[in-house]
Amino acid sequence: MSDKQQKKKQKRKKRRASANLASNSWLEMIAMAVRTPVFDHERAIYTNRTLRFGQVSAVGFDFDHTLAIYNCPALDDLAGKLVADRLVEHEGIPREWVDEIPAPGFARKGLILDLDEGVLLKTDRYGHVLRAFRGRHKLTVGQKRKLYGDRDIIPHVTDRDRFIQVDHAFSRPEILLWSAIVDHTEAGERRKQWQRIRHHTDTIHRDGSLKQVITADPAKFIIPDPRTEALLVHLRATGKKVFLLTNSEWEYTSAMMNTVLGRDEEAGEGWLDLFDLVVVEARKPKYFDAKRGKPSKPGPQEKVLLGGNLDEIEGHIGSTGNEVLYVGDHIYADLISSKKNVYWRTMLVVPELEEELTVQSGMPGIVRQLREVDERRTGTEREVMHWKAVEACLLSIEDVIESDFKGLRKLRHECSVARKQATDTLKDFIRQRETLRSRLSTATNTHWGSLFRAGSELTHYGRQLEDYACTYTSRATNLLFYPPSHYFRSPMDYLPHELESM
Ligand SMILES: [Mg+2]
Repeated sequence: MSDKQQKKKQKRKKRRASANLASNSWLEMIAMAVRTPVFDHERAIYTNRTLRFGQVSAVGFDFDHTLAIYNCPALDDLAGKLVADRLVEHEGIPREWVDEIPAPGFARKGLILDLDEGVLLKTDRYGHVLRAFRGRHKLTVGQKRKLYGDRDIIPHVTDRDRFIQVDHAFSRPEILLWSAIVDHTEAGERRKQWQRIRHHTDTIHRDGSLKQVITADPAKFIIPDPRTEALLVHLRATGKKVFLLTNSEWEYTSAMMNTVLGRDEEAGEGWLDLFDLVVVEARKPKYFDAKRGKPSKPGPQEKVLLGGNLDEIEGHIGSTGNEVLYVGDHIYADLISSKKNVYWRTMLVVPELEEELTVQSGMPGIVRQLREVDERRTGTEREVMHWKAVEACLLSIEDVIESDFKGLRKLRHECSVARKQATDTLKDFIRQRETLRSRLSTATNTHWGSLFRAGSELTHYGRQLEDYACTYTSRATNLLFYPPSHYFRSPMDYLPHELESM
């Protein structure tokens, strides 16, 4: 056998090994679903807007934090240290300021930064401030009121970007560093410090210093998931086109993909076969700008494009608009811009969901109890208002009534007793609700509570998720547990008056 034939044979062998690995993983998944038919929350995909998966002919994936699941503590630690070193070396920040940063749970996506005041905020869907920390110190109700009163904080809209939303997983180290530095700086300095942190964070991403450390030891930073390969194989086997659309560069994506897929490096090489198209250096969210129109450059391999535009990608995959489902983790770059400009259907990957659902399942019935107490509180509030209104009416006729004073006094007494009873019951419901909410919130995150909920309202992040994510889930590979023609049905939406008769 000639050298050429031998090479071909080896290549075929590797491909077969790779295909076997994928089908074996897929087989294991099916076996697990047959033998342990548990519909657990970790695998669930939740639906905001009805989606007929059967009508979707192309599925696209983002790379970082979507297909590539990072070991976040290791990654955050590395990024934080690289940026801290630059702040000390180039900006003259004392080393002791950045040596002791808050605990990792303090930083999370969905928070709003007040750059002028050095405050981190959690708001409800209308922008009303519910929790706030300056540096590491929680603001009291009085301090919050003094700073923000009853105003609604809408990031990126008011006060020349005084308020910005942190919505990227890569932003956690920035928040921790900023909070540590804020504790040592005066008002007027804090915006500048944030800009310095941002500048050096961008630098470590752009100049390759972060990626150089990651690619040197990918197993330390990536949590491999063999289901990824099974999913990609399965989607294509059911007739859907599969594409990758990422801002990362080709060298990095290519180097990390085998670790992401959980492949044996020896069996690797041919991961491009899993995709119909790969677009790197996409520059999202600009990529979704309908007017951008810049053509792509050819990549190092036939299926790979560098940058490009929407018309091109839709032309290549042969699907447009709502025939495309795009799966990503960044609410703005992946979802809002794609939804606004091209009407692609969307799936948001929110790893924090798994953690919150695990907390809830460890406190069985607490969400139901909370909802019941809240409903009963609303009913009792209405009862108190009713008795107050009747009392006011009785008072208003006291001076004009000419007879039956005794009957009037009796009615007023009955009314007062009923109002007092209802008020006491209301106070009891409020206490119960606060206790349940506090238990749930503290168990989720001691500083910030739930990512999605703020009291009885959604958070700003929760509202964006509801508005822009057709579906959402904790991992992209959860798609594997749904048939290719699945009907993702949104829950019935009710107005308050419709809930009355339930
Ligand atoms: Mg991403």
